[in-house]
Order: sequence, then structure tokens, then C-alpha cells
Amino acid sequence: MRVQTIIEAGWVMPMTDKETVLPHHSVLINDGKIVGVVPTEEAGAIQADEIVRLPDHIILPGFVNAHTHAPMHLLRGMGADLPLMDWLQTKIWPAEGKLMSPEFCYEGSLVAGAEMIESGITCASDHYFFSEDVARGLTQAGLKCSVSGIVIGFPSAMAKNTDEYIACAEALFERFQDNRHVRVTVGPHAPYTVDDEGLIKVRELALKHNAYIHMHVDETQSEIEGSLKQYGMRPIQRLEKLGLLNERFISVHTVHADDSELALLARAGASTVHCPCSNLKLASGFSPVAKMMAMGINVAMGTDGVASNDKVDLLGETRLAAMLGKAVCQDTTKMKVGDMLYAATMGGAKALGWNDRIGSIEKGKDADVIAIDLGNVDTLPIYDPASQLLYSAGREDITHIWVDGKLVVKKQQSVGLQPLTRENAQKITKTWQNRI
Ligand SMILES: [Zn+2]
Repeated sequence: MRVQTIIEAGWVMPMTDKETVLPHHSVLINDGKIVGVVPTEEAGAIQADEIVRLPDHIILPGFVNAHTHAPMHLLRGMGADLPLMDWLQTKIWPAEGKLMSPEFCYEGSLVAGAEMIESGITCASDHYFFSEDVARGLTQAGLKCSVSGIVIGFPSAMAKNTDEYIACAEALFERFQDNRHVRVTVGPHAPYTVDDEGLIKVRELALKHNAYIHMHVDETQSEIEGSLKQYGMRPIQRLEKLGLLNERFISVHTVHADDSELALLARAGASTVHCPCSNLKLASGFSPVAKMMAMGINVAMGTDGVASNDKVDLLGETRLAAMLGKAVCQDTTKMKVGDMLYAATMGGAKALGWNDRIGSIEKGKDADVIAIDLGNVDTLPIYDPASQLLYSAGREDITHIWVDGKLVVKKQQSVGLQPLTRENAQKITKTWQNRI
């Protein structure tokens, strides 16, 4: 057997389930695809054009950022500490009103894509205007993406009314129908910004294209109160009544969903995207993620846009989600390491319907793979590589990123602080570890 690339790793976490960690394994890559995962001692018999030796690294599938607004990278840092409506009305909406254009969306997405890929994110699901230009920026930065045909109940530089938004979305489906790197979702903004008539058109469009619906839902308490007042029911109950819920529905945030709404999502087989940084920074509340997981709802991770985060660091987001989730349900046994790393990879791929191609390291999938260095002082000693990847490592430790088998990012390895070299740090920690 001959392959193009062998990555010999300290550990491989394939994410075909939530627990498996394979020590001393190698990932085999050929023609942009994963062709096998084998014990490294067996990889010696395989010919390769290139062997990448990473004995201190853990290999994972690339992270999936299941909810973001990439062009908002150009608004990073605006209006910190303002209440949500002040933030939107005095900062974000006026800036967007001034800047909104295809160029703004392309260049913002290119910058966002560069930060994402450096952070180990190899696929992103975007929700914004001028999505053809968003896709151009993200793919140019090296990512795969889902982009949204947005539908919102007020005019923008892109469209004047629901029918024009739907027409723009139709054009997106046509534009990307055979694209290997871009898929299209229908993106109604939120239950409070799209009326019933608009949501019925959204449902029909999604059905026609067998597409996923990507929507902010139950983000704030005032959204619930508004829905009860205007429609006499909670937002997810209304979406169910209008026929939007199925296994292709992506409910972003889902912070204030009550048990009846969660039951509707679970029954439909829908997914949710958890964006804890955004929920905390905008003081939206605490999403009941442990409860969702227990009910069998697929959970993905998202960064939201940087205007409410203010970074696209999916590993950091997932670490925060794990700790926050435990505190919210007051149970350390929930939101386990495997649950969280699964949400950041396969959970995202499933939510977006990309799991036929990405989300795990297994034969036949795209070789979208990241390597995280666990050999530095910030992660040593290693007792539990998966746990230390989640709780100790940071995005700066993600040193190698492959997309379609091509190495797109290679960072310098930290040399450590003198006089404690990397080698000495490993020696000291190993010595004490061996005395247990
Ligand atoms: Zn959002």
C-alpha cells in the first residue's frame, strides 16, 4: 500500500463515538481523503510520500463552527458593556447600515476565515447577507462552509421584502448546487423578525431543496414574552405549528426553551447550536445544554459573530461550555469531555448535514484534520489526553491543520522558557507521573 501522507500521532481521537482515544496511531491520507487509521507500528509497512511525526500531539477532525456571522469581523469590539437593544440600535445596526455591501461581506469573511482556520475550524455555518460573497471569503481562507439564504422582516441593502429575500436564497441554491465546498441553508433570522407568512415561504423553500433551516431561536426572555403576547404561544411551539421542525432544523441558542419546547425539538430530531460566549456577553442567559443532551437533542458548538464574542475560538468556546454547563445543572458528571469534543466536531457536522463528508476521522471522509500539541508546559503532564486537550490546551497549541489532505496551517512549536526547555519540562513531569 502506498499513500501520500502518514500522520504518526501520540493519540488519535476519531470522534466516531464520544470516548475512543487511540494511543500511538497513524492517520493515512490519500487524494484528499482519509484512507485508514492504524496502530503506528503497522504504519511502518506502508509506503508514503511524506510522514509527519507528531509524538506529542493528539489528532482530531477539524472543528465545526455551526453558527457565525463572518462579515461582522469588521465590527469587532464595538459597543462593549451596552444592553442588548442599545448595542444593536446605537452601534451594530447603524454600522451595518453604512457598510453593508458584497465587498464588506467578502472581505469580512476572508478575515474571519483566516482567524477560524488558525483556530482549527475547518467548516463554518454562516448566517448573514450577501452569502455568495461570504462563501467566497470563507473558501478562499481554506474552509468548507454552509451559507444562509437569509430571510428577515425588514429591508436591507440586499432585499426589500420577503419575496426578494426568498429570490436571493433561490439564486444561492442554484449558484452552489454542485459545489464541493459550499452548501446552502435557509436562514430565517429569528421568530420575532419573520412573520407567519414569511416562515411558511421558508418552509416551502427548504422542502423544495431538501435544505437545512438555520435560525436564532429562544435567545432572550423578551423574545418568549413577545411571542406569547403576539401569537399566544412560545416560539418553538409556533415553529412546530408552522411545520418548520424536522431533523434539518438548526435551532441556534435555544437559551430560554422550556421543557415543552425541548420535547418538540427532540421529537423532530432537530439540532441546537450552543454559543455560550455570546449568551454570556449579551447577558442572554444560560442554555439548558445538559438537559438537551439527556433528551437526545444533537448539540453543536458555535462562536456566533465576533461582535458578541469577540473571537472565533471553538476550542475555548467548548471549554467554557463544559464548565458553564456543569455549573448550570450543578452536576460534574454532565457535559463530559467526550460529549463536548463530539459537539465541537461530529455534532456540528450532523447539525449541518455535512456528516457524510466531515466530523470524524474514518475511512472515506475528507482529510480535514487538526493536530494539537500536548507536549508543552501548558498541558503537561498527560494523564488524560482528551481531558487535557479540552481543559488545558488553547488554540495556540493547534499547530497543524489539513483540509482535503493539504497542510494549510503549520505553526512554530513553542521552545519553552529558558532554563526550562520543552524537553526538560517533559522529563520533570514524566518522572513525577511515573511515581504514581
Ligand atoms: Zn447569531
